[in-house]
Amino acid sequence: MTALFPHCILRIALDTPLNTVFDYRWHCEPEARPLVGQLALVQFGSREVTGLIVEVLDETDVPEAKLKDALAVRSQLSPLSPQWLALAGFAADYYQRPLGEVALPGLPKNLRVGTTVALDRAIRKLAKNEAPHDATPANPPPLNAQQQAAADAIGGASGFTPTLLYGVTGSGKTEVYLQSCDQVLTREPDAQILILVPEINLTPQLEGNIRARFPGVMLATLHSSLSEGERMLHWLAAHQGRARIVLGTRLAILASLPNLKLIVIDEEHDPSYKQQEGLRYSARDLAVWRAWQLQIPIVLGSATPSLESWHHAQSGRYRKLELRERAVKNAVLPQVKLLDMERDKPKDGLTSQLIAALKLRMERGEQSLLFLNRRGYAPVICCESCGWISECTRCTSFMVLHRPEHRLRCHHCSLELRIPRHCPTCGNVDLQPLGRGTQRVEEGLQALFPEARVLRIDADSTRKKGSAQEAFDTVHRGEVDILIGTQMVAKGHDFKKLTLVGILNPDTALFSQDYRASERLFAQLMQVAGRAGRAGRTEGGSESEVLIQTRYPQHPLYGAVVNHDYDHFATALLEEREQAALPPYLFQALLRAEARELATALEFLTIARDCLAHPNITINDPIPMTMTRVHNVDRAQLLIESPSRPQLQAFLKEWMKMLREMKTSRVKWSLEVDPLDI
Ligand code: ADP
Ligand code: ZN
Ligand code: ZN
Repeated sequence: MTALFPHCILRIALDTPLNTVFDYRWHCEPEARPLVGQLALVQFGSREVTGLIVEVLDETDVPEAKLKDALAVRSQLSPLSPQWLALAGFAADYYQRPLGEVALPGLPKNLRVGTTVALDRAIRKLAKNEAPHDATPANPPPLNAQQQAAADAIGGASGFTPTLLYGVTGSGKTEVYLQSCDQVLTREPDAQILILVPEINLTPQLEGNIRARFPGVMLATLHSSLSEGERMLHWLAAHQGRARIVLGTRLAILASLPNLKLIVIDEEHDPSYKQQEGLRYSARDLAVWRAWQLQIPIVLGSATPSLESWHHAQSGRYRKLELRERAVKNAVLPQVKLLDMERDKPKDGLTSQLIAALKLRMERGEQSLLFLNRRGYAPVICCESCGWISECTRCTSFMVLHRPEHRLRCHHCSLELRIPRHCPTCGNVDLQPLGRGTQRVEEGLQALFPEARVLRIDADSTRKKGSAQEAFDTVHRGEVDILIGTQMVAKGHDFKKLTLVGILNPDTALFSQDYRASERLFAQLMQVAGRAGRAGRTEGGSESEVLIQTRYPQHPLYGAVVNHDYDHFATALLEEREQAALPPYLFQALLRAEARELATALEFLTIARDCLAHPNITINDPIPMTMTRVHNVDRAQLLIESPSRPQLQAFLKEWMKMLREMKTSRVKWSLEVDPLDI
């Protein structure tokens, strides 16, 4: 009977692993049909969920008796644009996921759940929100010639113009972004600009710069520490085209931006642009696709570009712009020196030369930074009489000693134990910490320099919301003499009083199995070294220094860091990759399987390996992952390789269809395209 009343069929994508779309009936007059790109509330199984309308049809094959009515259409919200739908569609296709699993999680939670109260409130709030006040914009510094050339080239570009902005640390890339933005915003009254940074801790610094420079422009931020209410508001401001600058971390790449005219990816080499769970996308790669789709310019900035981007710049696919010098007058790149730990044996992890350098900075009232990419007090404790070591009972890894918290912690499954008073196997009470993390270095520093203001910044010291920002502010205010930290402190920060960087234990990465380890280590060392000497020579005339403690001072990677020689290092690495047939000369995907028993995971992968052959596709043998067991689950992987991206894509599509049809209740599997860690 219902069919006699005017209605239409809404074809809807839902956030489920089922790789399909779902039809629902919607009663309405023909002229009042919902639009593609709008959201609808529907019953799915026992739940009410929000879905995305991808088609509006007259009829469906679904039998009348099975067809359900949609519950509501969110008509207050203008539809997501065809371009946005195409972006989500591309991501779904490329990463082999159902559209709904890509499109919906990217939307604010308040838009997806239950009532429309939050949406209505955000709409009202934005409607009342007048344009930001007309404060006087901060004066930009005059650019140097290279900066000016870059800003003009980026700000004046039209069409799809991917640019690699290759500028040494402290060369003033931020200023180039800001002045390019200025040109675009001035020229195009409705233009929106998307700026991505790799880390949430870098947003406040840039947000401050943007607000000072563009006080009359609405800025929206999108990152994981917004409250749901804030996220709704900022997302909507972007979606309505009112926010003209959107600043965010990787998740912002899926923001709805109807008038997007320029994309900026700062520190484009950073692995944080890759999402490491669920939909494992690369925000940088999606950004390039988005720029291509919209035929707009995109700038990828870095002092140590990813080899992928460097390769594109060498081959001419990307335009390369260089900033060779530091922007601040008198600021030069720091001198990098290698300290041979075989000759100068460290005490409390510090060689005598590093201690002397720290002392000098203390005397001059300058700041020092010690970089150690290992948090906790010691990576393991052991019993010297029987050889017991603190292994995690649930993972193939060790329990890390956290002395201030009086705990042993597994960094992989979060298991926490009290520190045992005696050895669990032999009863020996003398348990020893082995190795050293940031907490132990902090303790050593306090003993060495009792008068120094030492601050540790790592994931443990910044657990509370806002505490990371507070810590960075303390450094900026000059209230810290020695900063010790993990990679959290290495990136992007512009610490003006810092003239010494000490790097404590980088050697382990030299001999890693992972072929990307040296690219990463090099980038990390250059980045952390780049924190020193950014404000030019200090009054005492001291030059800034970077001291690397190593047992392998002859290693060519360190030689390249000493010479600040990214070019040669990257070119040599690329040659190696080409000869060894590795990315970017080869395309990869990784199938991972998890099960209670390793054999089950391997068995599944073996079946997967054998179920489909394809020309130009190499399927390797299944192997256990390096860290096989995490939280009582065993993990294995299967690597697929091809010299052709389209062929790999075609293979994956067909293969995924087969895998989805397999009965795999004892195995959880997932596919990653362009994996970074293999
Ligand atoms: P990068 O991102 O390239 O490492 P930043 O953008 O953080 O470098 O700039 C480093 C420092 O140089 C900042 O303190 C910035 O204010 C300053 N700076 C940038 N451009 C200029 C300029 N043209 N004149 C003077 N100082 C500048
Ligand atoms: Zn023992
Ligand atoms: Zn564990």
